[in-house]
Amino acid sequence: MSEKLDKNRTILLRKRHVGPSCKIFFSHDPLKIVKAKGQYMYDEKGQRYLDCINNVAHVGHCHPDVVKAGAEQQLRVRWWARARRRNQREPADSLKPPLGKKATFLALCYLSGLSYSEANDLALRLARHFTGHRDVITLDNAYHGHVSSLIDISPYKHHQLPDAERNPYVHVAPSPDVYRGKYRADHPDAATAYADEVRDIIDRAHERGGKIAAFIAESLQSCGGQVVPPVGYFQQVAAHVRRAGGVVIADEVQVGFGRVGSHFWAFQLQGDDFVPDIVTMGKPMGNGHPLSCVVATPEVAEAFASCGMEYFNTFGGNPVSCAIGLAVLDVMEKEDLQGNAARVGRHLTRLLAEQKQKHPLIGDVSVLLKGRGLFVGVELVKDRVTLAPATAEAQEVINRLKEEKILLSADGPHRNVLKFKPPLCFTAQDADLAVEKIDLVLTGASPAPFAQSLSDTS
Ligand code: PMP
Repeated sequence: MSEKLDKNRTILLRKRHVGPSCKIFFSHDPLKIVKAKGQYMYDEKGQRYLDCINNVAHVGHCHPDVVKAGAEQQLRVRWWARARRRNQREPADSLKPPLGKKATFLALCYLSGLSYSEANDLALRLARHFTGHRDVITLDNAYHGHVSSLIDISPYKHHQLPDAERNPYVHVAPSPDVYRGKYRADHPDAATAYADEVRDIIDRAHERGGKIAAFIAESLQSCGGQVVPPVGYFQQVAAHVRRAGGVVIADEVQVGFGRVGSHFWAFQLQGDDFVPDIVTMGKPMGNGHPLSCVVATPEVAEAFASCGMEYFNTFGGNPVSCAIGLAVLDVMEKEDLQGNAARVGRHLTRLLAEQKQKHPLIGDVSVLLKGRGLFVGVELVKDRVTLAPATAEAQEVINRLKEEKILLSADGPHRNVLKFKPPLCFTAQDADLAVEKIDLVLTGASPAPFAQSLSDTS
């Protein structure tokens, strides 16, 4: 199919009609993607790009089973929210077993509609109803969504607006980043040290008359720089927060649904003895179709119901989204995509670790510090001792990789962490190709920006 608009015209129309704060990737030379399949995307000239960043297209772009499920449901009934439908119940039921043995009591689902911000906003409401408290503890560099209640708890965005007025009910705990955070891998007990920071925040809030409703965190921080919290951290945080009458919310919007390989939910990496009170989920759930969900303990869900206010949202649990959600779970099982995430993730991390031996710009890719399964971060640093972030270099790397038809992005508070979070159908050959191109780019046909940073480390 030929495109109606050429790329320049598309860019012009976008500039004219789309608000300037809506940024796009590669703004100096944007891509016009017209087709996508599996782990590949195609531009208007038919050039193929390997997609290493799209954790929304979880089981692969335009997966035929998922597309078919949505199309067939569209032809039957598109919308009717006030009656319970068969397929609304099923996604909720299908989600319970993967929540893990001890998590079966996380029993009640709200299919919360279109955006993942809706899910997190609802989670805050649930927490506040249940506890009768107002204060929220969030992590530094966290991002939980774009609505007002969530911008308040998203320090990732505050860095862009340092003078913004802070909400007095929000408290920011240090990110449990054992690579460049306050307590590092050489600390004898970083998990306790980071959890004690949360305990101290609770104490200070109490001194000022505050009461903790919730601690919210991604099970692995994504925008915050692919941070893997030390094992034992969430258990200790949960104990402090629950003692203060609050609940723990795990945001699995990016990292859930088997991406970490060894487990279905990233919070399970902490061990069987940690279960959150509320879990929010989204991106992978609909494979690009809007579908999000909040799962809570019956106590939390019942407290919300007993307040007397009905919960309704127009698209929440609509039949098409539910049909698609079920198809995603079926494809994951049929194609063993969680297993693939584990296997290919291991291969990718091994290849990247080899690159670390070769390129001083790579600070860390260690499986313990920067990733799990197909969620892998590569820290670029100017100096492995000072960890000075190689921000400009990271940008240059992703721009040059784009020329090599590899799509990767850089994130974290310093925008120096290359992020791998591809569709889970990503293969070992895809990993070989991506890493071969990273090697090529870092070795540098025109090494100007890298020469400086490499010599900085010597
Ligand atoms: N939580 C996390 C961890 C996210 O990464 C995002 C979006 N990137 C959201 C919540 C909010 O999702 P949405 O943009 O759909 O509102």
